[in-house]
Amino acid sequence: MKDMKLAGLNGSNRTIVRVGDVKIGEGLTVIAGPCAVETMEQTVDTAKIVKDAGADMLRGGAFKPRTSPYAFQGLGLKGLKILEKARDETGLPIVTEVIDTRDVSWVCEYADVLQIGTRNMQNFSLLKEVGKANKPVLLKRGMFSTIEEWLLCAEYILGEGNPDVILCERGIRSHEKYTRNTLDLSAVPAIKELTHLPIIIDPSHSTGKNSLVEPMSLASVAAGADGLIIDVHNNPATALCDKDQALTKPQFEQLMKKVRPLSKFMEGLQ
Ligand code: PEP
Ligand code: MN
Repeated sequence: MKDMKLAGLNGSNRTIVRVGDVKIGEGLTVIAGPCAVETMEQTVDTAKIVKDAGADMLRGGAFKPRTSPYAFQGLGLKGLKILEKARDETGLPIVTEVIDTRDVSWVCEYADVLQIGTRNMQNFSLLKEVGKANKPVLLKRGMFSTIEEWLLCAEYILGEGNPDVILCERGIRSHEKYTRNTLDLSAVPAIKELTHLPIIIDPSHSTGKNSLVEPMSLASVAAGADGLIIDVHNNPATALCDKDQALTKPQFEQLMKKVRPLSKFMEGLQ
């Protein structure tokens, strides 16, 4: 693949991204939480649910890139303060999306990992800005993008001096309508062949259906993914964003009881 000067495998060691005590690229990292930060109670409750079930990090969007301008756009700064409180209560590091170059430096005061969403994967000014930040970046695959285009976006971030890039496959557009997107699980072994960067899977945004999240999580672990990022909500029926894909507390607990042992089993096979 062309121009993969920094992201390419080149015989180098695999990158392990450290976030506090969490090591992404070593064992299975589970990131979970609401799609969007809605209220203090919803976020802190959900953070406790995912922490008790064994998640390593908390996800939650304060800036929501919505298809419709009339949909809930996120709480912004207020949302980041809520995430900070949830981190204080649970000790879970925070993964949160940044959608504007003007916000990167101050969002870094709250976030432990900066997420670049699928719609911004090729927002090159934003990539350069997070490349200058001193926080790891979770780079989602563009829903219309090839693996090569995705890795060249990682290259933009690495090129600015930020070595901590986590790739996230979140489904690509296909003719299939039953699922929200089509999860490209073959991206996991393909990425392992092409780059030293860790790759995680988002079974929530790829399928759009909570019933499919557990089976695709297990398949992701079997395929060799370094982690999962999963939507969980303390009361999905009331969720302001992506309620059909959010797992309930019992659903997430059940998933966690399966993915950890499967990950250990897979490690034993190597
Ligand atoms: C999200 O994770 O909240 C999100 C908006 O995901 P994506 O960019 O993959 O649609
Ligand atoms: Mn979402």
